[in-house]
Amino acid sequence: MKNSKNLKFIIVMGPPGSGKGTQAELLAEKFGLYHLETSEIIEQNLRNIKRGDFVRITGKKYFLIEEKKKRESGELMSPPLIAFWVKNKIEEITKEGKGIVTSGSPRTLFEARELTPSLKKLYGKANIKAIFLELNKKDVIWRNTHRKTCELMRHPILYLKETEKLTRCPFDGSKLLLRKDDTSGVIKIRLKAYREETLPVAEHLKKEGLKVIEINGFPPPAVVFKNILKAIKVDEAKVSSSSSLPWEAR
Ligand SMILES: [Zn+2]
Repeated sequence: MKNSKNLKFIIVMGPPGSGKGTQAELLAEKFGLYHLETSEIIEQNLRNIKRGDFVRITGKKYFLIEEKKKRESGELMSPPLIAFWVKNKIEEITKEGKGIVTSGSPRTLFEARELTPSLKKLYGKANIKAIFLELNKKDVIWRNTHRKTCELMRHPILYLKETEKLTRCPFDGSKLLLRKDDTSGVIKIRLKAYREETLPVAEHLKKEGLKVIEINGFPPPAVVFKNILKAIKVDEAKVSSSSSLPWEAR
């Protein structure tokens, strides 16, 4: 195993429509990180499952067919199972010598409590940063009810000045459709879930002594990205100056 103490672990969080996926992609490219998406991990683990398949975690069995049904009906899957899968994936990637950026994970306080000890051990406090993108309720609702997805690959396209007039997907050229599930009622429920279940994650990370950076998610993605990079740089300068011992000072 390569020394992972110089690798970065960046958590990008934000309400629906804040552009966290885009920022995570940009950070992955900039720092050569693996973009870890919980939904992808779940899909991998639920592929090709048979009746009776289960995962045992601290003595309890989690049957995968049941978990799959929960997911399909929109219910939350069992948090211990999600945390277990995510933790394993993080260890696997870190062993390959790669840092990680997540978008929207850890989603719940439960997941955060399960993950923080191993993150600290693998990466060291100073290399873990959490970016929380902020967007007010009005903008969340407006952006989400105007959000489009492409017909072919379901690429989500944020509604911004830059994308307002787009009729074709910039990635594959297929037609852009308004997303049917993005009605303001659904968005309000998702926003409430974000505030109640995900925002406490920020408090937990702070209590654990990890760096939590709040960034305005309203400007265009390129501006938000610049602000994130600036904040990370400022923080790293602080960490390296405070960690040098007095007799090392020049
Ligand atoms: Zn597309």
